Amino acid sequence: MSLSKYKQKRDFKQTAEPVAGKAEGKHIFVVQRHHATRLHYDFRLEINGALKSWAVPKGPSLNPADKRLAMEVEDHPYDYKDFEGQIPAGNYGAGYVYIWDKGTFEMLDPKGNALKEWKSGSIKVVLHGKKLKGEFALVKMKGGRDENAWLMIKHKDKYAVDREYNSEDYTPKRVIAKGKGEAEKGAVGSASKKAGASAPKKAASKKAAPKKKAAATGVKKKPKREKVK
Ligand code: MN
Repeated sequence: MSLSKYKQKRDFKQTAEPVAGKAEGKHIFVVQRHHATRLHYDFRLEINGALKSWAVPKGPSLNPADKRLAMEVEDHPYDYKDFEGQIPAGNYGAGYVYIWDKGTFEMLDPKGNALKEWKSGSIKVVLHGKKLKGEFALVKMKGGRDENAWLMIKHKDKYAVDREYNSEDYTPKRVIAKGKGEAEKGAVGSASKKAGASAPKKAASKKAAPKKKAAATGVKKKPKREKVK
């Protein structure tokens, strides 16, 4: 598995994100809440020593009725499982990364091979996390517009829920607050420290304005494709 795409995108003099890492023992998974330009959750499964990665715009769900879009992105190095913190403004994926959940996983089929299943476009795993538990499927969408599009689906088991599931409800408030501020700073690029604490608020209100306008004029905008990093 190649990390060349991962390395190409990043300047390791500027970002504290890891360069490499070696897998040991059990398969691990991690979910990182990434408050970049657009908030998303990165779901990563260790397969053959690297982290196969998907950006899930809405975050994972324990409700089997939800089919969460998961856009496959470049493999990440094994050590990324422990990365948490700020990716500095101006860098790829600038914004705050929070480890939302992590744990081990096994293949649902005891004879299943993770790499084979990934190649076939259907991965079935049993997660042992703090938040995500039990059976999950990742299924590649066929004939879609985007060859990187997969769906992440919870199987019905004792960990499944039938109420609405919003991963933001399971994110500490301090993380939500921090993520917002940092993402806004990242969005304006070289925002200096002089801008002070009021900067994120200003940026937020500016952002909110166009939405209201669109609603008032009744213009139906085609939903933008979710852009994820
Ligand atoms: Mn990301």
